[in-house]
Amino acid sequence: MKFYVRTYGCQMNVADSNEMGRHLKANGLAETQDPDEASVMLVNTCTVRQHAEDRAFSEIGRLKRWKAKLPGRKVVVTGCAAERTKEYLEDRFPFVDLVVGAKSIEDFGQLAQRLIDRRETDEELDYAIPSTDDKVAEFVTIMRGCNYSCTYCIVPYVRGREIYHSMDQILGDVCDRVREGAREITLLGQTVNSYRHGQYRFADLLQAVAAVDGVERVRFISPHPYYMTDRVIETMASEPRICESLHLPVQSGSNTMLKAMARNYTREQYVKLAGKMREAMPGMTLSTDIIVGFPGETEEDFQQTLSMIEELQFDWAFIFKYSTRQGTPAANLECFPQALIEARHQRCLEVVDRIAFEKRSKLVGTCHDVLIEENNFARTRSNYKVHIHGDVAPGEEIRVRITNAQRATLEGEIQNGDITSENFPHQDHRRVPRA
Ligand code: SAM
Ligand code: SF4
Repeated sequence: MKFYVRTYGCQMNVADSNEMGRHLKANGLAETQDPDEASVMLVNTCTVRQHAEDRAFSEIGRLKRWKAKLPGRKVVVTGCAAERTKEYLEDRFPFVDLVVGAKSIEDFGQLAQRLIDRRETDEELDYAIPSTDDKVAEFVTIMRGCNYSCTYCIVPYVRGREIYHSMDQILGDVCDRVREGAREITLLGQTVNSYRHGQYRFADLLQAVAAVDGVERVRFISPHPYYMTDRVIETMASEPRICESLHLPVQSGSNTMLKAMARNYTREQYVKLAGKMREAMPGMTLSTDIIVGFPGETEEDFQQTLSMIEELQFDWAFIFKYSTRQGTPAANLECFPQALIEARHQRCLEVVDRIAFEKRSKLVGTCHDVLIEENNFARTRSNYKVHIHGDVAPGEEIRVRITNAQRATLEGEIQNGDITSENFPHQDHRRVPRA
């Protein structure tokens, strides 16, 4: 039996899909990239914006025909939209076999076992089947849920309050991923740097993960500005295995909007924080999330966002059109017409894309250590994706010179050893010596 997974939404969902995949594999199923070969179809949904939910629902609708083509096929719907709309889903799509909301992902193992309908006494059943994940860059979930209540956001409702995994569990997961071939670990949580367990805080966890044998690179997502403490910054700056790149959502450059969104920092505090991090880690990349068209956002507020993007020169940014989520505090506020939101989205994208292009262009001719992930694709420590020309194998770390930066994915050629000092720009001065 084979299963196919379709994932919508953020990295948290990708990590959840990986975890559910491991449970299915432990039940004897193999993963396939071809839906026609699959007996189990898993759709992991997102509800952060209406658009993501709509796409998942039309996909589920199409699965009625997929299921009817072969007897015994199963459809499983999981994730945030499943949590929010469980009853609606069961009514509208009665052919769905199992709905598992985001709050119950950790119970998926038991649920999957029942779904697949194999007895525990079955002699074929081998719970010790190791996962066959062989990715070079892997996610490890360190916490679930969110204790914030940003007024636009549905996440705390569908994922619940924060629950932290223990340090032992996390280090165990990291070791498992390394054993399977991972070299880069990204720690995941909605406000990942608010992590606490017993006496341990996020900085302790970062240090412990970076010390695991076989881990060459550590990243984390999504951090919250409030928890980017001096200790976390110092740990990032001093631990060579932690990459000098951060995706730190700001949401708006207007203090009025930040207050209306219930983000507990000001523009000035965020700008100061960005300066402190760049000072501690010269050459680090900084990226962000921004929402445009939040209810009440005046042209002046919007201009503040544009000016902050110019001031901070983000290396890249995701710009989201505000989407009303029922049940959130902002859902009671009057919404802007879609045309205005679209227009601001376009204007914001133009500024972000121009700056990102300027920054990428400056990389041409510089040299970087990249970790090969798959099929000639690698990543710099600063988190740029690079297409490599040459013969390379996943898991290898090599030095490349950037030859082209027209597109979001850079192009690079392998350096053959004739490296001179100008090829060592400041951006990766903390290269970890290889044993
Ligand atoms: N926990 C992270 C944080 O606080 O920065 C973000 C998690 S959220 C899944 C990812 C991004 O989606 C947010 O940073 C925000 O920009 C965007 N987002 C969340 N709710 C939204 C909404 N109702 N409309 C538009 N964008 C939204
Ligand atoms: Fe949503 Fe805010 Fe929690 Fe992030 S911190 S998941 S934006 S409520």
